[in-house]
Amino acid sequence: MSNSLIRLGLVGLGKIARDQHLPAIAENPRFALTATADPVAALEGIASYPTLDALLDARLALDAIVLCTPPSVRAGLAQRALAAGLHVMLEKPPAAALSQVGALIKTGAGRTMLATWHSRESVEVDAAAAWLAGRQIRAVRVNWREDVRVWHPGQDWLLAAGGFGVFDTAINAFSILTHILPQPLTLESADLGMPANRQAPMTARLTMRHAAAEVACDLSILHPGAPQWDIAVDTDAGLLQLTQGGHSLTIAGELQERTPEAEYPRCYARFARLIDEGQSDMDSRPLALVADAMMLGNRHPLPPFEF
Ligand code: NAP
Repeated sequence: MSNSLIRLGLVGLGKIARDQHLPAIAENPRFALTATADPVAALEGIASYPTLDALLDARLALDAIVLCTPPSVRAGLAQRALAAGLHVMLEKPPAAALSQVGALIKTGAGRTMLATWHSRESVEVDAAAAWLAGRQIRAVRVNWREDVRVWHPGQDWLLAAGGFGVFDTAINAFSILTHILPQPLTLESADLGMPANRQAPMTARLTMRHAAAEVACDLSILHPGAPQWDIAVDTDAGLLQLTQGGHSLTIAGELQERTPEAEYPRCYARFARLIDEGQSDMDSRPLALVADAMMLGNRHPLPPFEF
């Protein structure tokens, strides 16, 4: 295994970059943060640029770019980083549209790309996938509801076209579902709640199918109080419940031992491994479910929303 240092440029120095990426980079000796690009924000002691283009023009010694911007600009930035010969880690969702993912996979041949799905990166989610592998699945229920004012205060981009609205959080549930359920998931119907003054849905009820089982999803970012990030899978061997965003696992009534959360350290360990192996992981199945919901969904109006 290679131990070479991976020198990073990080683009989009907002909430997730500061909350998760910077600590995960700092604790992994394979990575060194060399530069950042953000229209306004900067880090003391690190070369900072207002745009990715300015960062690339500076011709620093870099190996990879980490993209933590809102999704609407992600694919264009990834294309520029790949054209500069760099590996790319992409926050979720990897692009704002499926066609953009296909184009990235073609451009990125020979470099490593990782579409991070942070909610998959837990011991409990892996254990759920292993347990479900041999089961007959009868029904699946997803409740994924939170208060956007608490979790994304002031993030108007999230409610613009290409901002994903309720699917910004629900795509985390879809990333878990596509990882733990053994058969392909297909979307059957969707009902989307659209605030009169915004371009993205804030509530959604979806019906998906997994072989013979129905998968019912109740999704909202207008949910007051404590968030609910829960998945329940009814099987021939009892009920499996993944709660707290995939960090708590109960199988047939027995709470499994909980491990410390390490989603982003695992994302970076995966990125280093893929670079060492010359591989990429650009799984777009969670994004495809969102695209299908937007394509098939009935829309119903909701009152105007302000943060
Ligand atoms: P955020 O707080 O709004 O941060 C995004 C940052 O990117 C802002 O500083 C923004 O600058 C900057 N930016 C926008 N366009 C840029 C460009 N073209 N080049 C360079 N920088 C640019 O958003 P966030 O919450 O960190 O979310 C970012 C992504 O991470 C989203 O895809 C989200 O789904 C994902 N994510 C977020 C969370 C979370 O808890 N927040 C968790 C997991 C994943 P301006 O504000 O000046 O435009």
